[in-house]
Amino acid sequence: MRFRWSRAVPEGVKSYRITRDTAGRWHVAFAAVPDPIPAPGTGEVVGVDRGVAVAAALSTGEMVSASTLREPERVRLLRLLRMLVRAERGSNRRDKVKQAIARLKTREVDRRKDWVEKTSTDLARRFDVIAVEDLKIGNMTRSAKGTIEAPGKHVAAKAGLNRSILAAGWGQLVQRLVHKAPGQVVKVNPVYTSQRCSACGIVDAKSRESQADFRCRSCGYACNADVNAARNIRLAAVGHTVDARGGDRVAGPANREPQPVLLSA
Ligand SMILES: [Zn+2]
Repeated sequence: MRFRWSRAVPEGVKSYRITRDTAGRWHVAFAAVPDPIPAPGTGEVVGVDRGVAVAAALSTGEMVSASTLREPERVRLLRLLRMLVRAERGSNRRDKVKQAIARLKTREVDRRKDWVEKTSTDLARRFDVIAVEDLKIGNMTRSAKGTIEAPGKHVAAKAGLNRSILAAGWGQLVQRLVHKAPGQVVKVNPVYTSQRCSACGIVDAKSRESQADFRCRSCGYACNADVNAARNIRLAAVGHTVDARGGDRVAGPANREPQPVLLSA
């Protein structure tokens, strides 16, 4: 059988697994645990928020999009799905349509995986502490983004389109971060992260002007809503150590103690 070495086999591999994906491609995967990525040692802390319009927003102001299906591919997928409904059961045509759908879907999965790997490596290299919201709590306290009382404009349409893709990508991203940067990922309680002003700390549901915009009615601070949330997530992680020194922040990380020495900046 012909095959392609997509990468070198690491030392010390003891087992491998052969799989066939839904697009009919065969893969050989060798089991090896890679070394964690060393932290940069700069004391930098980043907050990362999962977005709706973008895959992730960083407290640095960066917006990171996951590449998923492009518009023509999305159109083609919708057309194929309609064709599948009409195709007769057991027909050759139905098989062909199914295969074409599977190929498009694996393309999407591949791109998401690629994005997850690149983004997690980038974050692990650049920051000593990576703060994310604790999803278990987040699911209970937040709707798709925005708040239940004050949802942003077009939330349903946009969220419906992206939610499942981004939700899957987000879960994978956090999981890979924990693998690549063990001990550097801090999970914080996401309560009010989308309603709190990251400049003055006021919590106000009306500050969330729309899905994308945050404008504080107290201090006038305006910023992308996802970036504002990412800044609050960062502050919650930093505040945990302030709290340990007798500060007054209440929103601390839900699980792990970050190293105060790294957070002194
Ligand atoms: Zn403010």
